[in-house]
Amino acid sequence: MKIGRSILVLFMLPVLLAALVGLLINYWSLHSLREQHEQSSSLENLDVALLTEAARLSEDMAVVQRRVAGALEAADGKRLDEAQLYLIHSDVVNDLAALNKRASALAESPQVREISPEDALALPVHTRGYGNFVIMATDIAAIDPGTAIRYIGKAQQHFIAFSEHAHRISAQLANRTTQRNDDARRAFDEFFNQVLVFGLAGMAGMMLLAVLSARKISRKMADVAEALWHLSRGGDVPPALPKIERMRDASGTDFRAMAQAVLNFRAALVERKQAEAQVYQLAFYDPLTHLPNRRLLVERLQQALSLSARSGQYGALLFLDLDNFKAINDTKGHDIGDLLLIEVAKRLESCTREGDTVARTGGDEFVVLIESLKTKAAAAAAQAELVSGNIREVLNRPYVINDYTHYISPSIGIVMFKGHQERVDDLLKYADAAMYQAKTAGRNAVRFYDPALQVALEARADMESELRLALEQQQFELHYQVQVDSQRRPLGAEALLRWQHPERGMVAPGLFIPLAEETGLIVPIGSWVLRTACARLKTWESDALTRDLKLAVNVSVRQFRQGDFVAQVRQVLRDSGAKPSHLKLELTESMVVDNVDDTIAKMRELKQLGVSFSMDDFGTGYSSLQYLKQLPLDQIKIDQSFVRDIVSGSNDATIVQTIIAMGDAMGLDVIAEGVETEVQREFLERHGCHAFQGYLFGRPLPLDQFAAALCDMRKLSAQSRAQP
Ligand code: C2E
Ligand code: CA
Ligand code: CA
Repeated sequence: MKIGRSILVLFMLPVLLAALVGLLINYWSLHSLREQHEQSSSLENLDVALLTEAARLSEDMAVVQRRVAGALEAADGKRLDEAQLYLIHSDVVNDLAALNKRASALAESPQVREISPEDALALPVHTRGYGNFVIMATDIAAIDPGTAIRYIGKAQQHFIAFSEHAHRISAQLANRTTQRNDDARRAFDEFFNQVLVFGLAGMAGMMLLAVLSARKISRKMADVAEALWHLSRGGDVPPALPKIERMRDASGTDFRAMAQAVLNFRAALVERKQAEAQVYQLAFYDPLTHLPNRRLLVERLQQALSLSARSGQYGALLFLDLDNFKAINDTKGHDIGDLLLIEVAKRLESCTREGDTVARTGGDEFVVLIESLKTKAAAAAAQAELVSGNIREVLNRPYVINDYTHYISPSIGIVMFKGHQERVDDLLKYADAAMYQAKTAGRNAVRFYDPALQVALEARADMESELRLALEQQQFELHYQVQVDSQRRPLGAEALLRWQHPERGMVAPGLFIPLAEETGLIVPIGSWVLRTACARLKTWESDALTRDLKLAVNVSVRQFRQGDFVAQVRQVLRDSGAKPSHLKLELTESMVVDNVDDTIAKMRELKQLGVSFSMDDFGTGYSSLQYLKQLPLDQIKIDQSFVRDIVSGSNDATIVQTIIAMGDAMGLDVIAEGVETEVQREFLERHGCHAFQGYLFGRPLPLDQFAAALCDMRKLSAQSRAQP
């Protein structure tokens, strides 16, 4: 593409035209000036010629006069003879005739008549008069010199008159020549001024035209430049360029080509932006929910920290994990799982303000970044809690997918941040830790991160390696907590795990079981518990005091999910020789919800062996009655949290009554755990619960102490029977 020639033409054409017109005007002006000059100079020449003639005529007359005067003097003194005189006379007659003619010609010239008509008439009269007297004088000189002299006097009078007139004519002519010169100069000046004015006007016109066309060009160039600037400025979508499109459709070749080039550039830019957007989308967004991914979250968090450093406002990071998502995914299939995640993403976005970030960082993990909270820690935390409460409430609402209703709850960990006090990685770690705390607090909960938790987390890492050692070095032992009936007669016991740590002393299971579950160590630990419990059952068989006791063993999800769990139990029973009917397995609701079909199948098989089941911590989970009805359960165990507040007139009393009624209706035994007071026991008893476990009857005890306690209880009940 060659740009330039037509722009040059566009720019130069008006200038060239204006210059041509200017030249024509100048030529015409010069031409007329020359004509004027020629005319006036020819008139002037004529005047000068007449002037000269008048002067010469006077001179020639004077010559004749002197000659005649000389001749007459000579004749008077007899120095001239008659013949010589005659010769002079005839010469003078000839000369006078010529002078007469010239004087007439001069007098008759229109110029002379015009400027001095009287002199013109007088001049030939005096010439002739002069001639006549001279001729007469020369004629008579030889005969009568006296008369001749008188005639010469007369002639002289005419000569003087002639000279006066000739002189006046000369003066007039000279005057007029001066006048003419003045006129010519004035005309020239006038012309000069005219040319100057024309020239300046022409130049101004030329400049105006040049400016106009330059402006037209520069406006188009400015349009192009502006378009390029807009394109170069970036932004998500290159701007539309209507001016450039019009230029392409309307302008001459060069501008059309230029406009086309700009439009091509824009098209390429659009294509590149689209490609970039696609790459960006892939790199920074989760393809399923279209939420930002972890990478983008980290970037936004970085910005949020800087922003918070400047504004002094707090921000919050909410780490969400869906509690029961895995169960739904496994039982209902990944398609349903995906739809659920998409719906969760939508709900999360509906809960947040514009400017907050909702990201999906893993399978069922989401992170919400809230910015611009209050500047005071407590107030900001309250805001974050409000948001997370709202999120929890919204996510808890039923999800109807493919005509099925599903329920999901989140565990939310919150970490607050202000400025760059913490690193991005650490913040995410802390939020994760807080989420974990929410999980252990019973799920569907919100927990704030506090640094103490972090210390605990680090301690966990140490504990993990110690746990592995604990199995090898046989640091575990079982404690037994008695379960009694309405008459406080022992019905059985729950086996509760203890870790005899070489330095820390006795470690409660709440401190290490979650870690063991997480790391998978619960599987070998759990089977050790099972083996130890069955061995205990076997030894109890030989003692009348313990023979009829049932032993409840806690089974963790991970352990139960083992593909060969049933076989393991069967093997342990066989190896120990314990009676399966005396073994009770305590399951939790989460286990059931996670995978109902598998749970039911395993429970049925184990039931066939004679093993019984108790539903532990009943009431804390969210399993529906629908599920429970399908399970081959023998007992439900009212969770101690309900028992604790049973008499304070709270909801818990109602819940406990409901659970008892439900157990009755379903033909299940009901046992209450965590019974610490007689008031609690009495309430439970009154409402139809006849089995109890709790400090009121006995704490979990090591084997020997448990045996001793049983003895005491037996004695006590024997006494009470003896004295009714
Ligand atoms: P859990 O199965 O609900 O066990 C009952 C817990 O309540 C025991 O805590 C027990 O000491 C405590 N408890 C009993 N009566 C009372 C009472 O009147 N008041 C109060 N405040 N507490 C009472 P522990 O022994 O610390 O066990 C905690 C949890 O550890 C157990 O809860 C169980 O989930 C788990 N666990 C214990 N042993 C095992 C085990 O062998 N295997 C598995 N998988 N989990 C175990
Ligand atoms: Ca239990
Ligand atoms: Ca329990």
